[in-house]
Amino acid sequence: MDLGNTLFTLGIIILLVALIAMVIVFQGYLSAKYDLPGRATGRPKKKSTTFLDEGEDEKKCEICYGKINEDPIAKCACGRIFHEACAKPTGSCPYCGTSYENMEVREPERTRCPVCGKFLKGSICSCGAVIRRKDDTFVCKCGNFVDAGKPVCKKCGAVYERTIMKVFKEKK
Ligand SMILES: [Zn+2]
Ligand SMILES: [Zn+2]
Ligand SMILES: [Zn+2]
Ligand SMILES: [Zn+2]
Repeated sequence: MDLGNTLFTLGIIILLVALIAMVIVFQGYLSAKYDLPGRATGRPKKKSTTFLDEGEDEKKCEICYGKINEDPIAKCACGRIFHEACAKPTGSCPYCGTSYENMEVREPERTRCPVCGKFLKGSICSCGAVIRRKDDTFVCKCGNFVDAGKPVCKKCGAVYERTIMKVFKEKK
């Protein structure tokens, strides 16, 4: 092997090492910036408890006072959210005057079941988990609000057992 060849091989190795180092640094940067779930555990870094009323779909449109549900929303800089269908014809925020053009129009962030990951419609997931609201109540199948501390529906008599949140664990 002559000197030229050795130098060439050495150069390739240094290049590869530099490339790998760059990829590692970049991944670290990305996960720090976007809060990506940790690779090793696969667990989301954010809080393991989800409340039903944290999702934007559970919030009320501040123009028609109807529930957002799955409709596209227009979010104003003042923090209020409206149905896109309500904000568009209104033209501006009735609270702070920001024009519709300057609002953030997108799909609402919906609450997912912390047990199975499916989108929630009401307190009771199709997997059987019961998701509480922040005030420690949940919505019965009949639509009545039930105290999670005494999980018996006063209206329809339904008895609930699984009102305690499970910690989210990734399936392996
Ligand atoms: Zn509305
Ligand atoms: Zn506003
Ligand atoms: Zn579920
Ligand atoms: Zn009920």
